[in-house]
Amino acid sequence: MQQPLRGLPSVDRVLSDPQVRVALASLRRDIVVDMVRQRLDRARQEMVAGGAPPAFENLVGLVLADLALLSRPSLRPVINATGVVLHTNLGRAPLSQEAAAAAQDAALRYSNLEFELDSGERGSRLSHIETLLCRLTGAEAALVVNNNASAVLLGLTALAQGWEVVVSRSQAVEIGGGFRIPDVLRQSGAQLVEVGTTNRTYLADYEAAITGQTAALLRVHPSNFKIVGFTESVPLEQMVRLAHERHLIVLDDLGSGCLLDTAAYGLDHEPMVQESVAAGADLIFFSGDKLLGGPQAGLVVGRADLVRRLRRHPLARAVRIDKMSLAALAVTLLHYLRGEALSAIPIWRMIARPLASLEEQARGWAARLGAEATVVEGESYVGGGSLPGSTLPTRLVAVAPRVPAGGSSGAAAQHLAARLRLGDPPIVARIERDRLLLDPRTVLPDEETPLLNRLSEALHATPA
Ligand SMILES: *Cc1c(COP(=O)(O)O)cnc(C)c1O
Repeated sequence: MQQPLRGLPSVDRVLSDPQVRVALASLRRDIVVDMVRQRLDRARQEMVAGGAPPAFENLVGLVLADLALLSRPSLRPVINATGVVLHTNLGRAPLSQEAAAAAQDAALRYSNLEFELDSGERGSRLSHIETLLCRLTGAEAALVVNNNASAVLLGLTALAQGWEVVVSRSQAVEIGGGFRIPDVLRQSGAQLVEVGTTNRTYLADYEAAITGQTAALLRVHPSNFKIVGFTESVPLEQMVRLAHERHLIVLDDLGSGCLLDTAAYGLDHEPMVQESVAAGADLIFFSGDKLLGGPQAGLVVGRADLVRRLRRHPLARAVRIDKMSLAALAVTLLHYLRGEALSAIPIWRMIARPLASLEEQARGWAARLGAEATVVEGESYVGGGSLPGSTLPTRLVAVAPRVPAGGSSGAAAQHLAARLRLGDPPIVARIERDRLLLDPRTVLPDEETPLLNRLSEALHATPA
């Protein structure tokens, strides 16, 4: 045990500070003692290195900040006023009430997760979604895993390990978050064979690349970028015809995957899962929490014999879906089967929302916020690696905070944004040209009041 240095308080002295004593009531004593010790040790090291002893209040402040981090979960709800419907950093799709309730039930109780109630025997967790997915997409068989990245890895590993997989150069992409198609192929043990050029790939390119070592042709949705101008890509039907002539398979990584037509809402047409099934792709991979609007999951639909090989592969167990996500996913799929997806699934309500209704809400907010707020025309984004470059017209509330004497409007906007992020509940908005922009599209109905309360508070508080 090191000796206390002159000027450094004892552990007990810090623990007897009134504010630290409050924290002691809600956290285990040994944890608090440990944190105080660590802070004192660090201060001691700084003093040994020639630093001055810390002021007692500063030391207590540091300890309180450490303790505050443990006082509640760091992961918590945030109000998304960015207008990006599928914001990966903000958790992608919020669930429907019913889907969230199903996840909660699965969490709080036992369930027939892998148990057949008819026979009393062991069942499969995949049985709860396979029929739903087949009905919705027209596919023969389906399976679901932890996320789409693991679905694609599982598919390539189970079907192409030690073989070649042909991919168009324009589709050998990085999706974001480090998911790079060439790396995933390498990890699966398959060999990537790139064909075509960045902007143009023809059927003949695929044809020329096929060898005795080829297992599959892979199509990948380029997700978050778009090549415009002098481009050429091969329609899925043609890839399928070629592959099947050569006794090969087509794997289709749709990324977002979509069951409803986005073109009905003024967006570009996002490829739909049913279309890939109809075109004859052998296996199709897509996410649960992008345009499907459900929980994080990786969905695979397609040929029964191939789905069976994926299910039986050891990696399937390593990437299996958990029961809460499975419960939420089943309910999300039921929304589509009942024909109520547009009203029940939050992201579809947001996408389908008429401009007039957004305008009315934005005007209401601006009126409530006062002189600093105006309504301006703007755009919402779908995000989540779908529909690059395609936006939805919206109405934004633009807030230009008062600029303190000697300050700049840019700094005032940054300051307001930080204040909104750091409060409770945190609010995330966009900043453009020194104004804070809030999009009503992605704010859930029960978040409107807290959002406006926090905003008026932040705007009308006297700057520190
Ligand atoms: C988003 C995406 C993935 C990864 O899906 P996750 O569900 O996030 O794991 C894979 N491929 C494509 C084309 C994507 O857009």
